[in-house]
Amino acid sequence: MRDYKTTFREPRKSKLYLFRIPILATLIIGTAFYWFSGEQTATQTQTTSVLSQPLQLPGHDTPLPDSFVITKPADKTAASKQPGPQEPVKTDPSKTAEQVQRKTIPEMSATWESHKIKSGDTLAEIFKDWKLSSSLLHKIVNSSKQAKSLADIRPGETIKLLRDDNGDLLELAVVRSPTETFLVSRNEDSFESETITREVEVRQAYTAGIIENSLFLDGQKAGLTDSQIMEMAGIFGWDIDFALELRKGDSFKLLYEEHYLDGEKYRNGPILAAEFINKGTTYKAVRYTTPDDDTSYYDPDDGRNKKRAFIRTPVKFARISSGFTRKRWHPVLKKWRSHKGVDYAAPTGTPVKSTGNGVISFRGKKGGYGNVIFIKHGGTYTTVYGHLSRFAKGMRNGKKVRQGQLIGYVGSTGLATGPHLHYEFRVNGSHRNPLTVKLPKAEPISKKYRNDFDQSSKQIMAQFNLYDRQATDQLAQLNDDKADG
Ligand SMILES: [Zn+2]
Repeated sequence: MRDYKTTFREPRKSKLYLFRIPILATLIIGTAFYWFSGEQTATQTQTTSVLSQPLQLPGHDTPLPDSFVITKPADKTAASKQPGPQEPVKTDPSKTAEQVQRKTIPEMSATWESHKIKSGDTLAEIFKDWKLSSSLLHKIVNSSKQAKSLADIRPGETIKLLRDDNGDLLELAVVRSPTETFLVSRNEDSFESETITREVEVRQAYTAGIIENSLFLDGQKAGLTDSQIMEMAGIFGWDIDFALELRKGDSFKLLYEEHYLDGEKYRNGPILAAEFINKGTTYKAVRYTTPDDDTSYYDPDDGRNKKRAFIRTPVKFARISSGFTRKRWHPVLKKWRSHKGVDYAAPTGTPVKSTGNGVISFRGKKGGYGNVIFIKHGGTYTTVYGHLSRFAKGMRNGKKVRQGQLIGYVGSTGLATGPHLHYEFRVNGSHRNPLTVKLPKAEPISKKYRNDFDQSSKQIMAQFNLYDRQATDQLAQLNDDKADG
């Protein structure tokens, strides 16, 4: 993902970055793409489709479309490494047309025999099925150091074979992923192998929508996939409780990447910037990767991480079986005791996650807690996870853990009537109610990266705002047309 960042950095040289944005939206990484794709001079148009079911908003007489999708195809000629629009497109003269053609064969040609690798498959068996000798396989695999990796085939990959007129092996390709193919070619009596990487073209897309039914229905209406909707909910999940606080009329705007191979979209990239208006409050997020490769979402205005220092709940899909009380009847001890934590009832074996980054200060058996983990989060906070059936692999005293990391499994060790997690949240040693304690905000972006963050965030947000204005203009245009007609 890091390589895409160059896009957003490049324009900082120009003060007129706003005017350069259409260029930026169009980024192609690497040059290989050009000789892989035959057509270099596709007409560059900006397509804007309005996916809309007219809806009536309170206070509006005219129905408004509730969502738009703007996709901007890459302006290939604008990428810095590429020839300008007036120049003829150059191809690498050292590559003959035939060589170029050949590179595309693993994906394109119907004359290749193809085998989808299943679990348990071996190259030897595949060769046997193809009526190729095991000595040939031996020869190929031992032809070079690189060729040895051929034997490393994994389920989901595809292996392809091209034969000559005599039925002998000419080329063998292992399609590792849509972007990576390992190719072995016969050259007289020897074999050559190479890894062919197809370059990904990154485009940007913008969409917006208004909540009418549910986050999922309205997200889909705006052209988002379920995983993009989850991604958006994850980004804002710290500010908004989507299960309880979502309201009709809430709205969202997203700028995200789309990844193309040979001009065809093959997957969505990450969300780059997002805005969510919930009950009248606007929340914003921008994606940023630090120079040491740590990616997160931040508030573009104050540079704070969108994540809190703690997540509220260490177990997913668990029922609270006992809350935090000063005094309660203890069913095992048969006496009144305060309950200084929260109990989450869940089946034995349910994963338990660290609620924040920290260091394990105790891992082992401790009285009524049974198997328990104590995690220290800096000097102020400690969290406690009791009654575990077992600990996750590698958990020991002094081990650093990250927020959301698996640390153990729900159980009923110690004083417990049934399987549950006993969870405590301590501030300066005193117990607080984990359900209501005000969770500290995450630290802002560290000082040494602040400049870099500001530059990157400024670029992305300028792009976001540009699309936003275009969408608003389209809406106005639509309404004008309606009024005229
Ligand atoms: Zn408890």
